[in-house]
Amino acid sequence: MLIKAAASKYNSIAIIGGGIGGLTAANALLQKRITDRVTVYEQAPHFIPTAGAGFGLSPNGQICLRSIGIDGFKDFCLPFNHMKRIDLSGRNVVCESNALQQIRERHGFGIAGCLRGDLVDLEGELKYSQRLIGINPSADKVELRFESGDEDVVDLVIGSDGINSSVARLLDIDDQTPPIYSGANIFYGKILNPDENEVVSNHPVFNEGSVVNGPFTGEFIGFHAGSGASKTFIWANTYTSSSPPPKRDDWNHGNILELEAILAKYPRSHPIHAFAQTTHESDLLHFVLFFRHHKNTWSKGRVTLLGDACHATLPYVAQGANQAIEDAVYLADCLKRHDGYNEAYTDYYDKRFPRTKKVVKFAGFMHKLYHSENWIVHKALDFLLGNAIKGGFVLKRIEQEIIDECPVKNYRQYSP
Ligand SMILES: Cc1cc2nc3c(=O)[nH]c(=O)nc-3n(C[C@H](O)[C@H](O)[C@H](O)COP(=O)(O)OP(=O)(O)OC[C@H]3O[C@@H](n4cnc5c(N)ncnc54)[C@H](O)[C@@H]3O)c2cc1C
Repeated sequence: MLIKAAASKYNSIAIIGGGIGGLTAANALLQKRITDRVTVYEQAPHFIPTAGAGFGLSPNGQICLRSIGIDGFKDFCLPFNHMKRIDLSGRNVVCESNALQQIRERHGFGIAGCLRGDLVDLEGELKYSQRLIGINPSADKVELRFESGDEDVVDLVIGSDGINSSVARLLDIDDQTPPIYSGANIFYGKILNPDENEVVSNHPVFNEGSVVNGPFTGEFIGFHAGSGASKTFIWANTYTSSSPPPKRDDWNHGNILELEAILAKYPRSHPIHAFAQTTHESDLLHFVLFFRHHKNTWSKGRVTLLGDACHATLPYVAQGANQAIEDAVYLADCLKRHDGYNEAYTDYYDKRFPRTKKVVKFAGFMHKLYHSENWIVHKALDFLLGNAIKGGFVLKRIEQEIIDECPVKNYRQYSP
């Protein structure tokens, strides 16, 4: 999409990749009047609603979005109030609390289940079927070439093109080794209209507003996301494997044998059996969990990276999308505050590198705990999750890190 803004510092900025990071960046640049023209180039032919399905929009993501004038998410996100941990039978809650509701009351922002499709709608249109294949930065401009044959010449480029970033590859930004397979995959099921689905609506544990975490069978999680007609119940289970799912795409439809192996870890009483059975085949997603070592360089000349393109993380702390949103908003802020893009990119990197590194490290640590075979590690995980769920020091520390260290300061002015 070509979005026009008033008088600004740069004539034109191109964003490569129309994921959460890229779309947030486009909005932030326009809201802060940094450029007259932002063009978002996305390789996909259209928005693919399964791409990423649902995710937890945490307080930092919400604060950043509201700071750039985006607040529609409150209408389509489902606030989480309760956290629960269940035992292997799936019938018994071993600990629970309303700590998430308390966080919302304390700060004005909580965590909420959100559907990617809704966020993309919110951000408007973008140019689809535009896969970047060439990029040529010079002293005063950057030339872009797309597979479609289209070309563009812009002042600055933001590469928000995900874990396999073409921008980073074409410009040889930092190490060019491929993403690293974590040794785990995930099944991700979406149950639409959960209020009308007996399996979900009649279950005493998985009520709306709760996020439910399972026993030692990888990370099992269940939550509601979206609202109104798009309300969806999401369940997911990570598991270790010697290889990624058969297709090399990030998402593909269920590999039934592997799913059966996961289900076999649970007694019949656990609702994962019924969830799997009631999930429509096209809503059962199966994909690989990759991560990347942090890139030590994020920019080259007039081009910089954001989101998964420079710090792709595993999903165990639900921060990849939220950190991409933070990147986008802080980058726009730097471009506004500094006279030149060089100083802006340096400020952006200096602030964002340590924060995102901490998140990626923590997610890697949780991956090890979730998939360890060692019972002492199980006990440690039980303690950590139990303490967090009950609102103990683990949750307080996370709350402090997430909210106090959010790049948008004085966040209370944005509280809904
Ligand atoms: C199972 C799972 C659960 C998750 N849950 C959460 C969660 O609860 N909370 C959270 O915060 N994060 C979560 N994440 C992480 C989150 O999905 C990512 O970190 C986030 O999507 C990264 O956003 P991005 O904009 O950087 O990249 P992406 O969302 O990957 O977007 C990149 C875009 O660039 C496009 N592109 C790529 N190459 C080109 C090219 N050459 N030309 C043009 N376009 C191109 C792609 O098509 C894509 O649309 C989860 C991830 C997984 C796998």
